[in-house]
Amino acid sequence: MTIQSPKDFWLQTLQKIEPSVQRAMLITWFKDTAILGSEEGKLIVGLPLPMFLDWHLEHYADLTLKIVQEFDPSITQIVYKVDISLQNGDPRVLDLLTLFPAKKQRKLPGKQEVRVAEGLTGKILNPRYSLDSFVVGSSTRLAHAASLAVASQPGGKYNPLFIYGGVGLGKTHLLQGVGNEILKGNPHAVVLYTTSEDFTNQVVEAIRVQKMDKVRQRYRMVDALVIDDVQFLANKERTQEEFFHTFNTLYEERKQIIISADRPPQELDLEDRLISRFERGMIADVSAPDYETRLAILVEKAKEYELFIDLPVLQFIAEHTTRNIRELEGILMQAIAQYELEQRMPTIRSISEIMGKLNKDQYLKEESAGFEKPQKRRPTFQEVIEAVSRYYSVSVQDMIGPKRKHEILLPRQIAMHIGKKYLNLTFVSIGEIFSGRDHTTVMNALDKIEERMQVDYQLLREVHAIETELGVA
Ligand code: ADP
Ligand code: MG
Repeated sequence: MTIQSPKDFWLQTLQKIEPSVQRAMLITWFKDTAILGSEEGKLIVGLPLPMFLDWHLEHYADLTLKIVQEFDPSITQIVYKVDISLQNGDPRVLDLLTLFPAKKQRKLPGKQEVRVAEGLTGKILNPRYSLDSFVVGSSTRLAHAASLAVASQPGGKYNPLFIYGGVGLGKTHLLQGVGNEILKGNPHAVVLYTTSEDFTNQVVEAIRVQKMDKVRQRYRMVDALVIDDVQFLANKERTQEEFFHTFNTLYEERKQIIISADRPPQELDLEDRLISRFERGMIADVSAPDYETRLAILVEKAKEYELFIDLPVLQFIAEHTTRNIRELEGILMQAIAQYELEQRMPTIRSISEIMGKLNKDQYLKEESAGFEKPQKRRPTFQEVIEAVSRYYSVSVQDMIGPKRKHEILLPRQIAMHIGKKYLNLTFVSIGEIFSGRDHTTVMNALDKIEERMQVDYQLLREVHAIETELGVA
């Protein structure tokens, strides 16, 4: 057998392997591999590290042979050979990152608002939040079971459904999961998901334009009303009153109401009559998950993001992250960003570095007094630019300089975005820092990046990783 171009041959092979393994796996385990030669029906495949050998023998040898034989039936065996020099930009190696570009993944809805019925808008339901994707542990079993029951029989005996618990423990996930599930069962149902802030804003606006009657009428069209974080209705008497009437109307018509809060009804700082309404239905709490549940959630999320992480690494994260799921996800996000940018497989070491950084932020947050909204330390714009430059490995000089090179456009836009969003810099002052660009240029750049962030999940994760590093996220 003679192989004309080992590189092309290997590429053909990998293209056929890809559909059977996930892209992340392909890039992890076939990076820096190459065909080193062939003799007497044996194809010699070079691997860059000894640890690859077992993995290939166990997972990919049969598949590789099968595919190789489709191209060249005379090959009867694959022989692996470890050659660490393959890691150093060896010309025989394929550039997998370019050859197998990341697909534009999961699109985020372009709009945050959605019209659920004539004149009625709510927040869009995130399809990722389903009752199926919610990992059930002892700390959430009741809340999950109640959610399922409500989803299968809205307006039934669990009305209202009231879910409470601390930050990042899955309340929003469950609420939206119920909403999604009701819509699955009945696509014509009018499911309105809103936060108590949005509800308040609507009431305030309706009062301003003297259209409260209209708003009230519209709410009657709702089949299921989902209101997140009702603790924020505290001290808003007029909104509470409107909510009380809406609640009663819907309740009497046997429409489902689903509510979340950060504490049980009797501890809410709301009118007694509202609290007693909340207590009529089903009350379930969510609390911090135990180790096994944390691990199960991590496995699930890693799968969702198509990231392969060794079990010991996941165990390490689960052992050291006890506060809430959002924290777990935060670490995972960072690991994903690191992996995608640097192709570094998460290791216990890299994860503990990430956790070290995050904990520092946490420490800073806990240091500051304020209970509900801990004051976040605000970085300087210089620090923002430096963080972005480190993250994308571009120089600060290039970022603020006049060049229009393609690879610095995005980092530049991201730095501007963070500066605007968290440091409240003006367009003019941002422009000045970036080589005296005028404010319309800055505005255009911000429009572009913000538009992209609506649909590009990967970009969103990268920006999030930088924000987390800066302690502003
Ligand atoms: P809350 O509204 O209670 O502050 P969220 O519902 O926003 O918390 O949860 C934070 C993140 O953690 C979300 O991304 C959510 O999907 C995830 N999450 C929380 N609990 C679970 C769980 N039991 N299974 C899977 N994901 C979860
Ligand atoms: Mg929430």
